[in-house]
Amino acid sequence: MKIICIARNYSEHAAEMGAPQFERGSKEAVSPAFFLKPDSALLLKNQPFFYPEFSHQVDHEVEVVVRIDRVGKSIEERFAHKYYSSVALGIDFTARDLQREAKAKGLPWTLSKGFDGSAVISDFIPLAELGGDVQNLTFSLLRNGETVQSGNTSQMLCSVDRMISYISDFMLLRTGDIIYTGTPSGVGPVAIGDTLEGILQERHILQCRIK
Ligand code: MG
Repeated sequence: MKIICIARNYSEHAAEMGAPQFERGSKEAVSPAFFLKPDSALLLKNQPFFYPEFSHQVDHEVEVVVRIDRVGKSIEERFAHKYYSSVALGIDFTARDLQREAKAKGLPWTLSKGFDGSAVISDFIPLAELGGDVQNLTFSLLRNGETVQSGNTSQMLCSVDRMISYISDFMLLRTGDIIYTGTPSGVGPVAIGDTLEGILQERHILQCRIK
């Protein structure tokens, strides 16, 4: 399975990263930057995250995650909704210091984004149980009980259907592939001893302890 992650899909997060700003519907928004994590990055529910020795700044990025449940290639945007039916909440852990270094050297983000445990994932929930509209899901992340990130998928620059269409122009999508759809603003570092909790549509579905 592939773990696909969309970059800069919420404008306030792009702003906090000092990344270029663009409008919904612009060329940049409809052809979003994306990257991959290996399947070994998955951290299943209730497993602790062990802080890696190679980084001094691991940031949380809470994201709504869509699971592909049909094989598809060059999927038209208007048919993309037929390729998923459940969503989860995930954390795209990022070794921000390594990412900064990679950006400065023009190198890929593989090390900063693809390390073991960097893809936290909750159980998947049928979209129908969450109101049925993938572009109207409220989600947030609490760090030690305090809300640090909150957003709604209506704020995405590139919609889920559009990203599926775009990605599938380049890569065959297979059943079980998952897409991290981008993080809202408020990303920040975690520390050993922290507890992170994720809420999707008022459901507490994700918990992750940092060890
Ligand atoms: Mg991310």
